[in-house]
Amino acid sequence: MLAAMSATPHASSQRDEPLIRDRGDACPGALRLHRADDGFLARLRLPGGWLTERQVELLADVAEALGDGGVSVTSRGNAELRGLRDGCGSELAALLVRGGLLPSATHERVRNIVASPAAGLDGFGCADAQLWVRELDALLCGAAWAAALSGRFLFVLDDGRGDVAGLGGDVTLVAAGGHALVRVGRRAFRVAGADAPRAALAAADAFLRAAADAGNGAWRVRELPEGHVPGLAGALARAGIAAEPATDPVLPHGAPLAPGPLGADAAYVLAPLGRLTAAQLRALLPADEVRFTPWRGVVVRTDPARLPELEAGGLVTRADAPGAGVTACTGRPGCAKSLADVRAEAARAPAGRLPVHFSGCERRCGHPHGTWVDVLATGDGDYLVDGAATPRTSLPEAVATARTTR
Ligand code: SF4
Repeated sequence: MLAAMSATPHASSQRDEPLIRDRGDACPGALRLHRADDGFLARLRLPGGWLTERQVELLADVAEALGDGGVSVTSRGNAELRGLRDGCGSELAALLVRGGLLPSATHERVRNIVASPAAGLDGFGCADAQLWVRELDALLCGAAWAAALSGRFLFVLDDGRGDVAGLGGDVTLVAAGGHALVRVGRRAFRVAGADAPRAALAAADAFLRAAADAGNGAWRVRELPEGHVPGLAGALARAGIAAEPATDPVLPHGAPLAPGPLGADAAYVLAPLGRLTAAQLRALLPADEVRFTPWRGVVVRTDPARLPELEAGGLVTRADAPGAGVTACTGRPGCAKSLADVRAEAARAPAGRLPVHFSGCERRCGHPHGTWVDVLATGDGDYLVDGAATPRTSLPEAVATARTTR
């Protein structure tokens, strides 16, 4: 069995040499499009995964008019448009600005904020982390210096239920009673809940100062060299935030959302292989709002009695349905590095208890966190399932076994 089955490998643990970069990150954005084999790709940051009804309609329209007719939900709950035609960048930007999806040209790629997607909807959690999202997003976009964060730097805001606390945030906020824990690397402080968004911003400031001091071009906290620790206490003091050190804080660990009803006024569905067609986006409506999740699903503020209708639209509405917990990277033909059309194989994956991720090469883009089954294409047309060579023809049986018996 591979280490990837039970733990997500980290960049720092894979380096033999100290990291030194002399360039910014090339992460795609809404204004910086990436050329892929299936056209251009744009990644739209959606803090907290949040979209209004009008923005859902806009995304569907844009996907049809400029892209390949669909939207991918990323492992950070962002939206990705693929197959964009050459030269459509200005038109795309204008549409996004008009729809309120591009509030800052300078900060668009640093608005990476994942939050507990059901916060405030189902009675769990002890703070509305989605309110923290709005405030942190406004603070981020209003701080000129924050534009220096990389497009990979991640804020994670957990409402206390523990569903997102373990998703590898560079800055993590966890609600606990009326307080919040703010954590960067191994350092954590307890602050008043009302100060939590400002504390998260201060923590990002501490990281940038540590990165400048280290001079190695770190994009993420885990890339800071030994001895360069973000000065969180000083950053909180500079921001005027009262804070108490939290010694050896344990982050809560809760399960990801399961598809189905969420309280009385919302429902949760998964996007098949993380993709929503324009028709499926529109099928989510009417809804007061939707929230894309880091598990490639959508919380829909709508009557949960609509779940059968959403299922009829091709969305995954039950945890035991085929397609639940199955993800894949872009694979062929969209990615030149891919050794196979892994999405076609993933679409045939049998149901099972554990998440499974299909990858076209060893980078394993978009793999889940925690424990998952690793299916990797090899150059000879066959696969490795948790490291075991598996002929393509035996893939369904091998995946079923790995998902259910481990
Ligand atoms: S895992 Fe490899 S093949 Fe898949 S999208 Fe990433 S780079 Fe491409």
